[in-house]
Amino acid sequence: MRFKAAISKSDESRFQIADVVLGPLRKDEVLVRIVATGICHTDAICHEGHVPIPKPIILGHEGAGIVERIGADVGDLKPGDHVCLTFNSCGECSNCKDSAPFYCEYFFPANILGRRLDGSTAITQDNDVTGDAAISAHFFGQSSFAEYSVANRNNVIKVPHDVPLDMLGPLGCGIQTGAGAVWNVLKTAREDRLAIFGVGTVGLSAIMAARISQPAMLIAVDPNPIRRALALELGATHAVDPTQAQFPGWFDAHAGRLTQAIDTTGNPEVVKSIVNSLGARGTLILLGAAAQGTELRFDLMHMLNNGITIKSVIEGESNSRKMIPHLIGLYQQGQFPFDRILRFYDFADIDIAMADHLSGETIKPILRIGNA
Ligand SMILES: [Zn+2]
Ligand SMILES: [Zn+2]
Repeated sequence: MRFKAAISKSDESRFQIADVVLGPLRKDEVLVRIVATGICHTDAICHEGHVPIPKPIILGHEGAGIVERIGADVGDLKPGDHVCLTFNSCGECSNCKDSAPFYCEYFFPANILGRRLDGSTAITQDNDVTGDAAISAHFFGQSSFAEYSVANRNNVIKVPHDVPLDMLGPLGCGIQTGAGAVWNVLKTAREDRLAIFGVGTVGLSAIMAARISQPAMLIAVDPNPIRRALALELGATHAVDPTQAQFPGWFDAHAGRLTQAIDTTGNPEVVKSIVNSLGARGTLILLGAAAQGTELRFDLMHMLNNGITIKSVIEGESNSRKMIPHLIGLYQQGQFPFDRILRFYDFADIDIAMADHLSGETIKPILRIGNA
């Protein structure tokens, strides 16, 4: 079987949409016809070459689509099911068995390296088009920048039919990351003063999730005025331009020291200012990625004197099988309006969508690939 995929190459800044060829489906795999897929920041940094992945590769890891075919060992899905794809995990290691697949011992090879865990790939390039053979796929167990995706039974989440399928893909990565950090880790409550540094998809999802608990202060920090305005509409009590404010001075003047903070920037100077803005027993969650080898520095005595916790979190520590249907339910009740951050593009406009993501013009681009 042949289908079209957007291929990221090492010598080209544009994606090449080309035919690829599908090999045999394995017993634990699910073939999904992709209806739409989000573009996440991890796709951008991999496309731009900041992560050592083998190219050419089919990126994309916020796919939503319809089950086309299932392997013999896939019991809980059937062709025609609407599904959302999420991160992959091995299902066998001690963390997977302890219901923590987001810390799977094989997270990096299962999600980033572009191969199945045994090193094989289901997809080859059409020799007539490119002259190459094997192509890296299985990115986050999906490679959803394509008309079809070979997913693993571990990362396919069934979703209801009564919600538009084309908007659901980002629930599987960026949105569950932000919401999960609040619900699963911080457990934000009414007395909390929570600040979120960087309000792209992950930060705005954290704001929508935290708003439900009505914390005393919910502060968005971002230099982009459009994002700050949206953060206020989605539930932030304050929005601060970090180019115009000093931290912790702004918090001392307006809010008091923070009880909770989330960093989505991965910027060491920002993280340092957040640590200094935390009060006693404050917790900082690190969600932002940075270049390999990036180091953080803090004032140790400020941390020791205040019992501060700094924790890194993957995928919001979300049990996707519960989290994604829960987010859909809240959306349908008007409690989690994540449609406000989405903007749709045709598959052929993937380069425009990526550029709009990188410039901040679009918060969450979604590529429409197939019919729902
Ligand atoms: Zn992602
Ligand atoms: Zn595992």
